[in-house]
Amino acid sequence: MDKQKQPEHNSPKIGSNQIRLLHRLCNACAVSGDETEVRKIVLDQIRPHADEIKIDAMGNVLATCLGGVENGKELAAKKNLRVMVAAHMDEIGFMITHNDGDGLFRFDIVGGIDERQLPGKPVWIGRDHIPGVIGTKPIHLTTSEERNRSIPLDKLRIDIGTAGSSEIKVGDRAVFATPFSRLGLSLRAKALDDRFGVATLIELVKNAPANIDLLAAFTVQEEVGLRGARVAAYSLDPDIAIAVDSTPALDLPSWEEADGAPIKNTRYNTRLDAGPAIYVADGATLSDPRLIQHLIQVAETEKIPYQIRQPGGGGTDAGAIHRARGGIPSVSVSVPGRYAHTAAGIARISDWQYTLSLLFLALQSLPADILVQSR
Ligand SMILES: [Zn+2]
Repeated sequence: MDKQKQPEHNSPKIGSNQIRLLHRLCNACAVSGDETEVRKIVLDQIRPHADEIKIDAMGNVLATCLGGVENGKELAAKKNLRVMVAAHMDEIGFMITHNDGDGLFRFDIVGGIDERQLPGKPVWIGRDHIPGVIGTKPIHLTTSEERNRSIPLDKLRIDIGTAGSSEIKVGDRAVFATPFSRLGLSLRAKALDDRFGVATLIELVKNAPANIDLLAAFTVQEEVGLRGARVAAYSLDPDIAIAVDSTPALDLPSWEEADGAPIKNTRYNTRLDAGPAIYVADGATLSDPRLIQHLIQVAETEKIPYQIRQPGGGGTDAGAIHRARGGIPSVSVSVPGRYAHTAAGIARISDWQYTLSLLFLALQSLPADILVQSR
């Protein structure tokens, strides 16, 4: 953290330990449906801090931190609000679909990736992170016509450079091989969506507020349709829910041009350096107005920078959670990040810190009667 930007709030801090943990989480490979590597890190981190931990049938990690206990003494017996906070463990990537022999593999995309991003990218395959590359023709051998169109997925292969590939099986996952790095005040990594959320939720479990029952859901299969969150919400049966994610920042000043001249960027979604993004509406959820109001009020009282994510498409785990059971009032809060769902994203440490601070302080000050307030 930049010293000048260090928040003064009484909330958990992002220091070198938290950045080291995010580093491990981002370099782990956990494409939807095979979240084992991230799940192991999560379990190691939260085990000493949660009152109860379950791994459900789909692989979600559901951890409960009961409130109402301080210094080993029960506070006045009252029912705490049950607050689900969800962060998805899975990431976009690839699945091996066929072994062509000679170290060459056909593959499919898991989650939302633009096919134009693929040629020439290094990858890690399977739980052993076997290195490979999505091979493509060098420029010397392509025609100008070929250079003007994208290469269809079925023409691409992952090449591991050796025929000794018996460990790689159909169904193995692969990810962009982008090692985590810190760039001054920023971070560059794959899978900041949503290892930011996972790392934030780990900090919340380690610093669980006593005024609520915190139901932490580290979910699976978000990138293929919010599948884990749906069953997690059913079994946790919370009163309210917050999804913590990372959302695209398309904030370059002249991203679009008209007649060769830059035009004002009005469709940025979110911006770096503007703090956590609070969702009013996305493609899957209309956020609960009482929860939006509470987050804004806490941010303003505590002088935490925040931004309203521009309403639009996309979605988070809240899209599945708010429709569970009889309906669960939900909202999402995201760390803004550039270049989501590509090989490498860029995000600011300060935006992450402010997201953690806002969530911690908002949970700690959550009025017990928030759901009986008029809407
Ligand atoms: Zn996400």
